[in-house]
Amino acid sequence: MMKSDVTNLSGFIPVRGMRDFLPNEARRIRHVEELSRKLARLYLYDEVITPILESHELLAAKAGEEIRHRMYTFWDLGGREVALRPEFTPSIARLVATKMKTYPKPMRLFCVGSLYRYDEPQYGRYREFWQANYELIGSSRPEADAETLMLTNDLIQQLGLRNYWLKIGHVGILRGVMSQEGVDEQKQSRIMQLLDKKEWDTALKLIKEIGVSAQCVKTLEEIFALKGQDAFQVLERVRKNLKDYDTAIAATNNLREIIELIKKGGASFDMSIEPGFARGLEYYTGLIFEPYISGMDIALGGGGRYDRLIELFGGEPTPAVGVALGIDRLALAAKEQKIRHKAAIQRRVLIIPIRDELSSEAVGLSLRLRREGISAEVEVMGRTVSRALQDADRRQVTHVVILGPDELKEEMVVLRDMKNRKQKTVKMEQLSEAILKDAH
Ligand code: AMP
Repeated sequence: MMKSDVTNLSGFIPVRGMRDFLPNEARRIRHVEELSRKLARLYLYDEVITPILESHELLAAKAGEEIRHRMYTFWDLGGREVALRPEFTPSIARLVATKMKTYPKPMRLFCVGSLYRYDEPQYGRYREFWQANYELIGSSRPEADAETLMLTNDLIQQLGLRNYWLKIGHVGILRGVMSQEGVDEQKQSRIMQLLDKKEWDTALKLIKEIGVSAQCVKTLEEIFALKGQDAFQVLERVRKNLKDYDTAIAATNNLREIIELIKKGGASFDMSIEPGFARGLEYYTGLIFEPYISGMDIALGGGGRYDRLIELFGGEPTPAVGVALGIDRLALAAKEQKIRHKAAIQRRVLIIPIRDELSSEAVGLSLRLRREGISAEVEVMGRTVSRALQDADRRQVTHVVILGPDELKEEMVVLRDMKNRKQKTVKMEQLSEAILKDAH
């Protein structure tokens, strides 16, 4: 027997950490994406589209150690070191520092798409995932911070999630204390990373090794332990602990102002104020937050203020605040809470010609229905009417139109409602109206 030189391609599965989205899953993901776009329009964020592939240097510049090590990095054929984007913010910062330099402020930018990180695949953690990203650039005022929190709350609410809260902190509190003690930024970042991983003891050990004052250690210890739902009470206790750490006090006041705006503005959602909370990305300078739902121990998104990043990419010093919402995780949360959304297609019409000679009429009718906004398909398997009807049920068809020669002579068709199994003969010109009249 001759040996085949054709490779057998039948056994392939996606590369570890990558996923196929079958129709039901794709619908769930796209539903969240559509909601995120709707929200961008409501809050007046303009969409920008940036490349998935960027220079490694750009992406590595200010990502935390954690992300830097997990980038998909390679050399392209032109000898450039490139990487798949692990987040959107560096690309946005690049745009604002270059092509959008002269755009009037504030700039509200939205982007949505896939990101890549060589994370260990597990529940809610993949190597390819999607984010909806909102950045408000040019304002250092608390109204801007409050806007990102409200926007986050709105998306979660519109998705219909229950029992959720926003974990809120402020990088300026811990950094303020450490700066005043002379701890350099690199060491501060190292400590923040440990805090992000909830390794408080190791963080404290490192702080002690750096050689800060006993008062500093005590203050930090107390701050790490503080958290609560009553924002103003927690912030009051933080303030008392901070004694004369002035920049940290200013950060606490900033956080209080942001929360006051939200509360006075009437946006109500549960929050947990955690001044000892940190986020993995290095570039935050102020407010930081993450949304959660109960029963799911992973963040649905992450946001915060990053006032120095755009400058780092060669732009003017430009304050900015933003949030990245994890589309996969929001979809997963909606699934966990058994939230069903209204199907995008409410009426699905199948047109069955009873004879081959009527195929062109079937095709013509399908075109007409689609032009009138009705989703329609033509029977393309050459099935008999009874077989096609059986199959229609399986495919969740709501209406079947049967084309027969006698009816067509009278400009009529048979319309069958698949829900109540009733059928009637209707005039061709009244067909759309008849389909749309049915409540489905
Ligand atoms: P980060 O950029 O790490 O702050 O992540 C922001 C949000 O993106 C997270 O809260 C998640 O919702 C989502 N996200 C980050 N990494 C992953 C991942 N590996 N898989 C799925 N979603 C992720």
